Amino acid sequence: MRYYSLKRKSPDVSFQDAVINGLAPDRSLYFPESISFLSKRFFENIDRYTNEEIAYHVIKQFIGDEIPIDVLQDIIQNTLYFDFPIIPINDSISTLELFHGPTMSFKDVGAAFMANCLGYFNKNNNDKLTVLVATSGDTGGAVARGFLGIKGIEVVILYPSGKVSDIQERQLTTLGQNISAIQLDGSFDDCQEMVKKAFLDNQIERKITSANSINIARWLPQMFYYFIAYKQVYKQKKDIVFSVPSGNFGNICAAIMTKKLGLPIKHFIASTNINDTVPNYLANGVYDPKPSKVTISNAMDVGKPSNFIRIQQLFNNDLSSLKKLFSAYSFTDKETKNAMRRIHKNSKYLADPHGAVGYLGAKLFQKKNPKSLCIFLETAHPVKFIDIVNETLSERIAIPKQIKSIFRKEKKSIKIKTYQDLKCFLNSERLF
Ligand SMILES: *Cc1c(COP(=O)(O)O)cnc(C)c1O
Repeated sequence: MRYYSLKRKSPDVSFQDAVINGLAPDRSLYFPESISFLSKRFFENIDRYTNEEIAYHVIKQFIGDEIPIDVLQDIIQNTLYFDFPIIPINDSISTLELFHGPTMSFKDVGAAFMANCLGYFNKNNNDKLTVLVATSGDTGGAVARGFLGIKGIEVVILYPSGKVSDIQERQLTTLGQNISAIQLDGSFDDCQEMVKKAFLDNQIERKITSANSINIARWLPQMFYYFIAYKQVYKQKKDIVFSVPSGNFGNICAAIMTKKLGLPIKHFIASTNINDTVPNYLANGVYDPKPSKVTISNAMDVGKPSNFIRIQQLFNNDLSSLKKLFSAYSFTDKETKNAMRRIHKNSKYLADPHGAVGYLGAKLFQKKNPKSLCIFLETAHPVKFIDIVNETLSERIAIPKQIKSIFRKEKKSIKIKTYQDLKCFLNSERLF
């Protein structure tokens, strides 16, 4: 499969080059040249396929012959080795739990898939590839875990000192092997700035690449769980609607892509916190990105969502056809906390703040469409936002086994203050 840059000012590339480059040389995002429907028979018999088989059918057209079938099957196996259950909240709203992976974030799927693809592409290369990522919390953990033990690749995670939660910090700093964590005396924005600078710095002697959510190998595998969800509910014969808690809009964009493969979904909802660039655009037609605002659903604190341009491309930049299939709603922290309380009181379900935003979007949509089955995504386990959850609800969260195990391990990270320190670290003889 060939990929083009959405600005069309860079050459088309293969899947492999799009994965390795991340961003096109013209600083724009890659997009597949064509998208084809899957067969009618596949959808009619979807419950006869395993999750891995579904994923294989979904992704193969985007890779073509660049990865041999057996290797691709192994990559999928290393990506989807946990459950994606749908839990009913009431008669017409359910949640799709995407947090049963190793770091309890939906980002585990994209991160593991990308890590395994890069590992394959770099396996015969003597030059190790270094993946450099800045994180405000969730991304770093999922990326680090996805790349753990992948040969030929070293990972350097940069995070703002004292500004990620204890659990998140443990997820970044206790892995060892090919993963190093660096804490910067500064903010997340400072971390991101340094990473950008490092990519453009030709005095850095190692080959570096990024693993952020614009990479096609993190974006495309997110389609898997919409198909896996469909398999679980299609026999109910209801109109299916997904409400996706959204920040950078990669996940919701993957959701809409599934429609281009023929998945019979009625409508898509992007649910956001007060970072409402897209809901505003849908309401008044003006796209006006703003600096991000801090909220309790902090993994979605994005004022300028990178992937929205891909959604516009899916609708040929036509706002009216976009609005037929897609809605976006924004909610305040107060509404989010009330939703967490209501879900807990009525359904005995513990939702994290991101899932609660998704629930609110589902609820609002359903007022006008009472017959549909609305599925909101639980993008992280509530334990990852334990302070907010404990402060909002009376029930205490039981700590899951994935999290318990990291409390026994030692945190290891290097402290830095300046860009020069980062550069010295990257240019040191051996990272590990
Ligand atoms: C990253 C993240 C999101 C937002 O996903 P996007 O693809 O960036 O829109 C939502 N919830 C959680 C818990 C996240 O970590």
